[in-house]
Amino acid sequence: MTPVDLHCHSNVSDGLLPPDEVVRKAHARGCQLLALTDHDDVRGLPLARKTAAELGLQFINGVEISVSWGKHTLHVVGLGFDDTNPELLAGLASVRAGRAERAERMALSLEKLGMTGVLAGSQKFADNPEMISRTHFARFLVESGRCKDTKSVFKKYLVRGKPGYVEHEWARLHDAIDWIRGAGGVAVLAHPSRYELGNETLRVLLIEFQRMGGEAIEVVSGTHSIADVARFGRLAQEFGYLCSSGTDYHATGEGSREPGLNSNLPTGCVPVWERWLKVPLVDVLPAKLN
Ligand code: AMP
Ligand code: MN
Ligand code: MN
Ligand code: MN
Repeated sequence: MTPVDLHCHSNVSDGLLPPDEVVRKAHARGCQLLALTDHDDVRGLPLARKTAAELGLQFINGVEISVSWGKHTLHVVGLGFDDTNPELLAGLASVRAGRAERAERMALSLEKLGMTGVLAGSQKFADNPEMISRTHFARFLVESGRCKDTKSVFKKYLVRGKPGYVEHEWARLHDAIDWIRGAGGVAVLAHPSRYELGNETLRVLLIEFQRMGGEAIEVVSGTHSIADVARFGRLAQEFGYLCSSGTDYHATGEGSREPGLNSNLPTGCVPVWERWLKVPLVDVLPAKLN
């Protein structure tokens, strides 16, 4: 068990808990190094950082940037950057700016199925109005009785090919990496198995991401199977990537893992977090993971 979590969400994006409660929850579960990585927004970091300092929990700044790479949507996690860097902040603001108009198109498309009040209903779930996301639509559709849980909503309505899915242009990959690196951070390719890229395309991505300055990939993720962990552990070593671990916690009961602890990296993987550790990690018992 590794008491490190470098990927989780608060209600500044599509998590349910405010930043301080995410930090408290991770700490209570035994976390020793945490990054909060809200989608396209860093405004949860000051509160998270302050709470972590009060608890004596090691904390680093994080963000998860939405990126378009060809026809694919990718997520790039930034870690350990200066969250007052003007270029990074302007870049993130530009990514958020597209979300309102995208939400309108999603709602129009769903309303063609006879649903009503989808935009206003989903907005109610977005505590940060600039960060309206598919997750908020999913929570609204569960509340209005369309599906039993958010996972089913995604499958039926919100993934590519389904009525609530609309194409959207996010940040360009090299811009996202430049913003993170320009602010002194490390760019990490989040949950690489989620993109369902063929082997060939995946290898092209791993080469391009590295060429553009990406330094790490998420090997252990709450959204990775045991086989994914082994596969991306091998690929990280083959390509010379540092390795990251994160639960991708959003909300208790929404299928994601609880925050704070991750399974160990495969043997031979070099952890991305060594440079940020001020206090060495202490071993934790395996029983705590869920
Ligand atoms: P958006 O940035 O608005 O496209 O929303 C992306 C978020 O939706 C992801 O960060 C996940 O939290 C959530 N998500 C995406 N796909 C799924 C899925 N198949 N099941 C559940 N949640 C998902
Ligand atoms: Mn999310
Ligand atoms: Mn993601
Ligand atoms: Mn995430």
